[in-house]
Amino acid sequence: MASEEKNRLGDKFKDVEAAREDQWARQRDAELLESMRKKRMEQIACPHCKQILEPKTEAGIQMMVCPTGEGAWLDAPALKALLESHKSQK
Ligand SMILES: [Zn+2]
Repeated sequence: MASEEKNRLGDKFKDVEAAREDQWARQRDAELLESMRKKRMEQIACPHCKQILEPKTEAGIQMMVCPTGEGAWLDAPALKALLESHKSQK
């Protein structure tokens, strides 16, 4: 019983490790995309405070974030991806 429990924990740990590597790969892809995007993205001013929005990737979702924290702007594919990931978490 005890060793069975241990094996199960071991399997779970492996799953976590695999998920972490997957996450890391996705994060790296997102960072590459973000750096490409930064190069071609024109500077956009926040409609509220007129500060230049900063490109940012959160959980693999690319967005333009107001540096004063007033909000974030997502293009349609990013918004769709966000909604999809929200749905799948339920
Ligand atoms: Zn702002």
